[in-house]
Amino acid sequence: MSDLATITRRIESFRNEMIDLQIKLCSVPAISPASGGEGEAEKAKILLEFLEKNGYDHIDVIKAPDLDAPAGYRPNIIAKYKGQSAVKTIWLMTHMDIVPPGELSLWKGDPFQAWIEKGKIYGRGVEDNQQEMVASLFSLKAFQTEGIRPRYNVGIVLVADEETGNGKGIDYVLKHTDIFRKQDLIIVPDAGNVDGTMIEVAEKSLLWLKVKTLGIQTHGSTPEKGVNSFTAASHLIVELGRLYQIFDAVNDIFDPPVSTFEPTRKEANVPNINTIPGEDIF
Ligand SMILES: [Zn+2]
Repeated sequence: MSDLATITRRIESFRNEMIDLQIKLCSVPAISPASGGEGEAEKAKILLEFLEKNGYDHIDVIKAPDLDAPAGYRPNIIAKYKGQSAVKTIWLMTHMDIVPPGELSLWKGDPFQAWIEKGKIYGRGVEDNQQEMVASLFSLKAFQTEGIRPRYNVGIVLVADEETGNGKGIDYVLKHTDIFRKQDLIIVPDAGNVDGTMIEVAEKSLLWLKVKTLGIQTHGSTPEKGVNSFTAASHLIVELGRLYQIFDAVNDIFDPPVSTFEPTRKEANVPNINTIPGEDIF
């Protein structure tokens, strides 16, 4: 049997283990402190346990300090499996963090207790980015179980903080290590299409703005004595739609091919119904 056939058959045999790991990873919500979560430390423990059992030649955790996370750091895991040649390393990079589940009543089940329906796994994070993470880990586990050394080194990179700017994730790894070399091939299986034929080569970058609108707070019965900051902010939000016309460059390498300008989070203003808000933040 060819090595490829051996490896693919071995991967098939991992079906239940892959589902188990997905469910286990899903049960630990690795949400960034910036989005109100605790970070990736607990999820990293599960992954380290997996890596330690599976014949890697080298495992490293690069901790980016983060006082907002209960652990005090955000973990970035690097694991290497030696190939026949060390001339280059094929890196597979995925991220541990997830976006918050949003409104829970809109879910059919508990987003952190993954369930299976018609051959698909449902739960927060099982797609972004765990399916690719689990696929990477088990494709390499197939080599390790069969005792086959790949042509080149293979490296697994499991990063923190992908969803909220990468500062404690891959940016930190790049600043504090020199593990990646020019000749290496770095694959980031994250966005894509169903059959895997799309290779994304570029992504628009982003700018987040927090806008605070100041008015004058007053009782709801005497609006003439105040200035309603909520009304003012709402006008601005509508006006911001014009940015689509002002910054209208089109580049088909991107999907969508234009810049986008969207209001997202709206912070709470006054807690009661009968106060004209003097401050509004979105
Ligand atoms: Zn992702």
